[in-house]
Amino acid sequence: MRIGIVGAGPAGLYSGILLSRDFDVQVFEEHSEVGFPEHCTGLVSKYVVDKSGNNVILNRIKGARIFSGNRSIRIEKKDIAAYVIDRKAFEKNLYNNVSESVYLGNRVKRIEISNGVSISTNSGEYKFDIVIGADGPRSLLRNMVTNERVDLLNGVQVILKKNFVEDNYVYIFLDRKYSSGFFAWAVPRESDLLVGLATYDRNPMLRLKALLRDRFNGVEVIGKNAGQIPIGNLNRHYKGSIFLTGDAAVFVKATSGGGLYYGLKGSEILFESIKKNLNYEKILKKMMEELKKDYIIHKIFSVLNDKEILRIISSLDNEETIEIINKYGDIDYPSILAKKLILNKNIIKVYPLLLRSIFRSYLI
Ligand SMILES: Cc1cc2nc3c(=O)[nH]c(=O)nc-3n(C[C@H](O)[C@H](O)[C@H](O)COP(=O)(O)OP(=O)(O)OC[C@H]3O[C@@H](n4cnc5c(N)ncnc54)[C@H](O)[C@@H]3O)c2cc1C
Repeated sequence: MRIGIVGAGPAGLYSGILLSRDFDVQVFEEHSEVGFPEHCTGLVSKYVVDKSGNNVILNRIKGARIFSGNRSIRIEKKDIAAYVIDRKAFEKNLYNNVSESVYLGNRVKRIEISNGVSISTNSGEYKFDIVIGADGPRSLLRNMVTNERVDLLNGVQVILKKNFVEDNYVYIFLDRKYSSGFFAWAVPRESDLLVGLATYDRNPMLRLKALLRDRFNGVEVIGKNAGQIPIGNLNRHYKGSIFLTGDAAVFVKATSGGGLYYGLKGSEILFESIKKNLNYEKILKKMMEELKKDYIIHKIFSVLNDKEILRIISSLDNEETIEIINKYGDIDYPSILAKKLILNKNIIKVYPLLLRSIFRSYLI
């Protein structure tokens, strides 16, 4: 069977590695190198690191400080909570395992379904039995599979010359002036600091300037990058011979915008579906349950205003609740913690606020 993959990001490359063991695979990438342009913070769990190798690790994260106005809480794990990876090196490592099947500098311009699937790129026309859309947040192939709604967060990041936060802590800024609907972050790496944010409006740079002015005033900026994060929940991930994975399939944690873990997991599930001829939606079901919960949490958070966020942060700021967060917080499964917190007596106090925001979140 011949399989074409559109996009050589992490999801396309990893799908290519798995599928090329059993099938004839071609991966098309519009750029002339992988991992470019950079657009990711690279905060991931061990599962993701293991797909590539320890040489991509730039930092080991113990915990986080979460800021809302002048208030902040500190959460931390006994062990490593997350890793910061060199995203470009991560993709290069994946690429090295499948490079002979990857066609760089090949932008897919047209896809036609008749007697198989044909793909037109700037270098010619190719015919496949199956085509996989791993073409990222603004996926062309997604539109061929479903017309379900997907929102896009606009992300922007700068690299600061040196670290201005604690070495092994991620800083999260929840203030609405830094983001409409999401949040801002500062992530320490080996020798520099990534400061960024994602927001639903079209002014991420203005908001980032405000964050830099407020928290990192006068600091030298040595790099800048930007990208989009798809947010939503699709009910369809394939149609006929076209399958989606990664950001194209919106395999993204809506709570954090992290897409690497579920992009790779989704690609494993897709491989199993094609290899064993199993229904993709059926075997995706368990993974989608977590992503649906994350989406609900995100929707509720996205409608909160500063005052409401501050009240929630204040309700978490006590020894007992922080202990629950430290114990159950999991970068890849945020709903486990949400489930534990919802019955906590300090959270019960903010139920009326939460109920109001659940109601508001369903109106938008
Ligand atoms: C600011 C920011 C910070 C982030 N931080 C994190 C983080 O800390 N942790 C985390 O897990 N995730 C993070 N993410 C999300 C993560 O980067 C994505 O989930 C991940 O890149 C998705 O991988 P992918 O392979 O599905 O898509 P992509 O990485 O977008 O790759 C898609 C590829 O397809 C190619 N392509 C697109 N269209 C075509 C075409 N027509 N023809 C040929 N090639 C095409 C593109 O050039 C690209 O190389 C972040 C995202 C942003 C924007």
